[in-house]
Amino acid sequence: EEKIIVKDLAEKLDKNPNEIIGKLVQLGIMAAINQEIDFETAELIAEEYGIEVSLKESEEEKVEDPEELLDFEIEEDDPKDLEFRSPVISVMGHVDHGKTTLLDAIRKTKHVDTEAGGITQHIGASEIAINDQKIVFLDTPGHEAFTSMRARGAKATDIAILVVAADDGVMPQTIEAINHARAAEIPMIVAINKIDKPGANADRVKQELTEHNVVIEDWGGDVIAVEVSAIEGSGIDQLLETILLVAEMEELKANPNRKALGIVVEANLDKGRGAVATVLVKNGTLNIGDNVVVGLASGKVRAMINDSGKRLKKAGPATAVEITGLSEVPKAGDKLIVVDDEKMARNIAAKRQSKVKLDKVKSDKRVSLEDLYDRM
Ligand code: GDP
Ligand code: MG
Repeated sequence: EEKIIVKDLAEKLDKNPNEIIGKLVQLGIMAAINQEIDFETAELIAEEYGIEVSLKESEEEKVEDPEELLDFEIEEDDPKDLEFRSPVISVMGHVDHGKTTLLDAIRKTKHVDTEAGGITQHIGASEIAINDQKIVFLDTPGHEAFTSMRARGAKATDIAILVVAADDGVMPQTIEAINHARAAEIPMIVAINKIDKPGANADRVKQELTEHNVVIEDWGGDVIAVEVSAIEGSGIDQLLETILLVAEMEELKANPNRKALGIVVEANLDKGRGAVATVLVKNGTLNIGDNVVVGLASGKVRAMINDSGKRLKKAGPATAVEITGLSEVPKAGDKLIVVDDEKMARNIAAKRQSKVKLDKVKSDKRVSLEDLYDRM
């Protein structure tokens, strides 16, 4: 069980220990300055400061003992190493309001087609280019993606597109989507869709959104709404321009010259290729041959392809690639980290697997205890 003393964590994060203790209290953990906390907790705290945490081998001679194997290294980027990166977008909204149709319309108009006649691959994410600027769209329906990723404390999306059908207005899943975006603390752009329909009423949509504290610009708020018809393709260019505008204000940055940190968008078992996962590189650059840990899986990146079916040797920040070479199928929302060698990758994955098994045994026990109470 990897642990760290509160004082040491504070030192590594360059924070006052009292501040860390305060954060722990917010998490419901009472810890003194010289007390140990587990890795997951330390990771949560570090993430609050926007710092990614990874596990590191402590000393060569300890390699044989997986329990002693891991230590902490918090790799914080030096601000001078940060460069602008492209935005990652997810599309959310009520069922049948046109999320899929809108994504199709976006892909059709602006797909990055570097190779003539290139075949579009379904990899769970799409890249489009407008004025030489790239935008990445996640294909996964926003709700699922948000729920599974949030459960793992991961954040894949920078901006949410909220699709609301102009003839239907704000519906239950519209409200859910608003709450997801809020919880993720990311900006929203409203796409008022189906504007071509006879019953379309954009003003009514805006008014209904106001009731949920989403106030559109012409109502005095700061949320931009764009009227679109995903079927006819109208308003798509304006929507894309708006995305770039909002992205610019967000000042999204990453360090392309470090080991990759990524997040799984989707994954499945392929008959011929084994475990296949689409990974969004969030920071750093992922290379063929990199040793990775992805959730409970480990492996060496064997091949990478993008959504145009193009084979890549490296994938920088805000690039979605389908990778092969993993020991098993990870879950959406699992984080990818690159480690120094294959053995270390395997050890971390093995350690995580035994922890999951242990947790399962514990929760099974709890269930049976509850069952017992039920019968009493
Ligand atoms: P999703 O459930 O949000 O992914 O919605 P879909 O993209 O599957 O669209 C639901 C239905 O609305 C389909 O029959 C679409 O053809 C239709 N639809 C989507 N966008 C538009 C639009 O802009 N105008 C009109 N008239 N119909 C649309
Ligand atoms: Mg759909």
